[in-house]
Amino acid sequence: MINYQQILDEIFQELQPTLTNGKVADYIPALAKVLPDQFAMSITLMDGTSHHIGCSDTKFSIQSISKVFTFTKALNIYSKELYRKVGREPSGNPFNSLVQLEYEHGIPRNPFINAGAIVVTDTLLSHYKNVDNTYDKILGFIQEISDNQDITYDRDVWFSEYKHGHRNIALANLMKSFNNLDNNVDDVVKTYFKHCAITMSTKELSRAMLFLANHGTDPITNKEFITSSQAKRINAVMLTCGHYDASGDFAFHVGLPGKSGVGGGIVAIVPKLMSIAVFSPRLNNWGNSYSGTKALEIFTNKTSLSIF
Ligand code: GLN
Repeated sequence: MINYQQILDEIFQELQPTLTNGKVADYIPALAKVLPDQFAMSITLMDGTSHHIGCSDTKFSIQSISKVFTFTKALNIYSKELYRKVGREPSGNPFNSLVQLEYEHGIPRNPFINAGAIVVTDTLLSHYKNVDNTYDKILGFIQEISDNQDITYDRDVWFSEYKHGHRNIALANLMKSFNNLDNNVDDVVKTYFKHCAITMSTKELSRAMLFLANHGTDPITNKEFITSSQAKRINAVMLTCGHYDASGDFAFHVGLPGKSGVGGGIVAIVPKLMSIAVFSPRLNNWGNSYSGTKALEIFTNKTSLSIF
């Protein structure tokens, strides 16, 4: 029997000397105000038992981790029709790159780069009609998956990104010019920035992602959020695309499906066993949590719980 709490304690100790490595995201000014040296890690097992270390109750901006929820919801609604608008191949490019999108006629490589997530948000907006209703439905879905009504967004982060979101707005305009966006650009990016600004703790995130460790059904409430084959595909896209141009590096070092966000969070799935969330806001050169990635690497090294 693995003593998970002891392993989390050891990880926390081993990370102490390097907790000041990396740089907090500052291209969204409100995110730059976050205390930089924080660290938290949570694991939730299939029976709901959980283990935590660090500031695991601190809520942080989930940012691109929200793309896992929106991709799940859109797959749920559109099934494989969704892939007419967004691919499922790694991009090999930074999360906010414009270049590839021009070459590939406005069809983003995958739902986890910004362009892909913006398209996914556009499909949800088409389904739910307006910004407020679409955001409410996305939030409601996250609350249901998390079995927790106490989740909301940070208005300052939302507004800060909206004011400084020139690159994402450029991506949306480029896709609109290729007819791959059905709604008004401003409505799409407003909704996208709002779901990126949702805040959750590692405790909440590790609980929320459990359905992906269990073929799409929450093992505690028994609610089926997605079919087993769709859950397989979400995990596959997390493994191959969840860390942008560092997805290969993450698979190499950690060996689990994972998704990062510039708020410093990462979620990772150990199929049939648990889901893991880490938080540490200082980022590496690819925009992924420096200590969060290290913590997951130490975890799979110590436990041999990688998928390989
Ligand atoms: N909201 C962020 C952006 O669009 C999300 C990016 C991320 O977390 N990697 O830039």
